[in-house]
Amino acid sequence: MTDLLTMTAVEARAALDDKSISAVELTEAYLGAAQATEALNAYTEITHDKARDMAKASDARLAKGEGGALEGLPIGVKDLFCTEGVETTACSNILNGYKPVYESTVTQNLWTDGAVMLGKLNCDEFAMGSANETSARGKVSSPWTVDGDGQDYAPGGSSGGSAASVAARSSLMATGTDTGGSIRQPAAFCGVVGIKPTYGRCSRRGIVAFASSLDQAGPIARTVEDSALMLQSMVSHDLGDSTSVAEPMPDLMGQINDGIKGLKVGIPSEYTMDGMADEITAQWQEGRKWLEDAGATCVEVSLPHTKYALPTYYIVAPAEASSNLARYDGVRYGARVEGGSLDEMYANTRAAGFGEEVTRRILIGTYVLSAGYYDAYYIKAQKTRRLIQNDFIEVFKEVDLLLTPATPSAAFPLGQKDVDPVTMYLNDVFTVPASLAGVPAMSVPSGLASNGLPLGLQLIAPSFREDTLVKAGRVVEKAAGFAAIASRAAGV
Ligand code: GLN
Repeated sequence: MTDLLTMTAVEARAALDDKSISAVELTEAYLGAAQATEALNAYTEITHDKARDMAKASDARLAKGEGGALEGLPIGVKDLFCTEGVETTACSNILNGYKPVYESTVTQNLWTDGAVMLGKLNCDEFAMGSANETSARGKVSSPWTVDGDGQDYAPGGSSGGSAASVAARSSLMATGTDTGGSIRQPAAFCGVVGIKPTYGRCSRRGIVAFASSLDQAGPIARTVEDSALMLQSMVSHDLGDSTSVAEPMPDLMGQINDGIKGLKVGIPSEYTMDGMADEITAQWQEGRKWLEDAGATCVEVSLPHTKYALPTYYIVAPAEASSNLARYDGVRYGARVEGGSLDEMYANTRAAGFGEEVTRRILIGTYVLSAGYYDAYYIKAQKTRRLIQNDFIEVFKEVDLLLTPATPSAAFPLGQKDVDPVTMYLNDVFTVPASLAGVPAMSVPSGLASNGLPLGLQLIAPSFREDTLVKAGRVVEKAAGFAAIASRAAGV
């Protein structure tokens, strides 16, 4: 049982091919692990029957030699992806009971390549948060603990359930979405790999919208190879999403071990922040050395508008959210609370259905879009966003890649930062710039903080250069030799 859980996706795929394991066995092991780690609250629903049926179908295809790239590999799905006939709530009460009649393009791509669906994973409500604490389905605990302190730590957010389950071995891989860091930050907190691809690579069709100009799906997995394997299946050009791009994805697995000799890597000086933990700076320096040892040249570069990224994001994202979330009116989806008039019904439904953080974002978004403030906030933020994007365009004329820390600190205890929203927003300081620029970025586990919690490094590449990202990610992964396992992982 435990052996099945310790295999990487690439190993498991090979073992399925040579028939040393079956998809049913592998799936049963993960269903057992999901049950065994239930206390973490990573899953909102385990789809046992569906998983077993899909695994059986995989075994049948493997027997005929027809296995797809992800054939028989058990995957968890963030509750932001529409899954046909399976409740999809974005972890919000306003979508209680909503069962989509169609499958999101990204999850459909995974099933078409043979992956097995284990269930739905917890996340922040409408993907708004950095600790998975805003979920209407309850907080998720990180499988990582600090010796002797008895506290539960945040898995990060908003893809907290995804990162926690991959680290807890209750899913082999998981889908995530990243609007301002929601794949990379939880991956860093949980000691796993997360990729936010170039904006437009993964179709947004069937993904519950948060901020449409920023939302991107991506993989969370245990190794760089696994995440590349999964990403390759997730991407497609989809006419169901007008921002989906036709640019073909390079063959990631084919060149992942090619190394980075001769690559030029930028170290952006603006990512040195006041009050940043010394161990974060130390990891960053170590990462630089690893890349140099592998034959890359590292140079200091400047992204001068970095300091405006966070305030820009926290105007643009709520503005788009306030507009996207207007559709939850008690008529078309999920919950409805009656009232004396139509307006009252809308108000009652929305007041009962949305949590505190989502309400805050809708209020901020409505404010910055309102007459008189639109120019002062929203337009200003759009202009600043362009300057931030230009910083990346300029710097990528000089370098092939950027190296930064993934987060300003290791994971914090649950409940510690939800008191003050601004403290929580500061978590996104290193991830938000790449989101605003639309460029691909990934987080790779690089070591442990002094308290034993994982730390991650972020790699950022020019648009459509996911190949550079995974090659460099592989170098960091090998040099870091990160082998620690979360203490509350299944089978530990
Ligand atoms: N933590 C950020 C926020 O709360 C990012 C969320 C995300 O990427 N979905 O908006």
